[in-house]
Amino acid sequence: MNDNKQNAKGLNRRDFLRLGSTGAAGMALTGLGALDASAQQQPAQPAAPQPAVPQLPRRRYGRTGLEISALVGASDWNAAVIPLAVQSGVNYWHKAHRWTAQNMPDAIKSQPRESYYLEVVVDRVDGDNAHGRIDEEQHYQFVKKCVANSGVGYYDVMKFHFGYHSLNEAQNDLGMVRAYQRLNKEGLVKHLAISQHHYKNIGGDMAYEILPYVMDNLPYEAAQFFYTYGDKKEVGDLIALAKQKDFGVIAMKTMGGVGRAAQDPKFQTMLAEPRFGGSTPGAAMVKWLMSNPNLTAAVIATTNFDQMQENFTAARQGALTVNDQEALDLLAAFNKGTTCLLCSDCISHCPEHIAIADIFRYERYALDYHDLSRARAEYKTLTKNGTSCIGCGDCMPVCETNINIVSKLMDVHKLLG
Ligand code: SF4
Ligand code: SF4
Repeated sequence: MNDNKQNAKGLNRRDFLRLGSTGAAGMALTGLGALDASAQQQPAQPAAPQPAVPQLPRRRYGRTGLEISALVGASDWNAAVIPLAVQSGVNYWHKAHRWTAQNMPDAIKSQPRESYYLEVVVDRVDGDNAHGRIDEEQHYQFVKKCVANSGVGYYDVMKFHFGYHSLNEAQNDLGMVRAYQRLNKEGLVKHLAISQHHYKNIGGDMAYEILPYVMDNLPYEAAQFFYTYGDKKEVGDLIALAKQKDFGVIAMKTMGGVGRAAQDPKFQTMLAEPRFGGSTPGAAMVKWLMSNPNLTAAVIATTNFDQMQENFTAARQGALTVNDQEALDLLAAFNKGTTCLLCSDCISHCPEHIAIADIFRYERYALDYHDLSRARAEYKTLTKNGTSCIGCGDCMPVCETNINIVSKLMDVHKLLG
């Protein structure tokens, strides 16, 4: 935290102490370990009148017509930050099906059901996102079971997790759409969305090759995909196209390198220079996202109050300053050669069909989100990991981020293997 953030208008550390529960205050003072313990010990509190916390802006989530917070929440956020997120106006919860009736945060379920939006995320069956298949009946049964277990009555959005492998699959496999239509008819889900990844490593297509078809031809109303500063032009164009077609967009994996930069002494020394005016890469990234009028929202992993404060304050401020731009450029320079932007350009050049971008995405979980166990668990599921690299170098010339892919694959394997 720097002085600028502590003086920023809005929800700062003092506000947390004033407005938060006892557990929140304890966490803000003593860190995440105390936060976890406090969250577990706090009994569910009855609904209380909401204090006047500065609110996040809301935007229309495309054809769903839902007005959602510009930063959406996720069920894997630290449980202790959720009450204050709700008070700050977070009203959309990604992967909400992971909450059962027993562990769904009281801060959410004590509100009127129509005042918040819950998302059920549906995975392929009989394998992971790259190898599993779409199965109408199993997806239908999965969502029914989630509705029953959670006691929420219905999900506002059903999201096809990881999306189609190719344009051809989107055109010909209607199993997910049919499952949605059955569930929608029964009132168990209200809207359909898709979380679309790139699939060049298995001979499929890029997200921006698949989604235009989805927008025009299938009943999806919104999408979620990778988007970060310095991303390919095609991604920005896709977001503009989505806006034209009233198709909602949530950006994910936006914070590449931010966690690493925060722990890099050299980076932090440079960031203290006057030209950055107290800006940080995290805050600048959020403002950069918010300054895109075509984007509905972003989902950003949030593990503590400081992070939430930084992101929420930036989202409310919105406009990118000269100092923020400098901070983003410093981050981009820091990322050159070190942080994969998940563009997937390299993948179609790999004769071994290694999921290079997925491997580097798992590295991001470890180094930027500091979630080593998730990173290792995901890495373990790969059918080909970094050890499959034969060092041919065919992938390297196409990487505009100048990553030494061969040596990074070895480093990531040491970290996660
Ligand atoms: S160097 Fe490794 S990752 Fe790159 S193309 Fe060759 S085998 Fe694939
Ligand atoms: S290694 Fe380079 S080319 Fe490959 S996905 Fe990452 S940024 Fe893109």
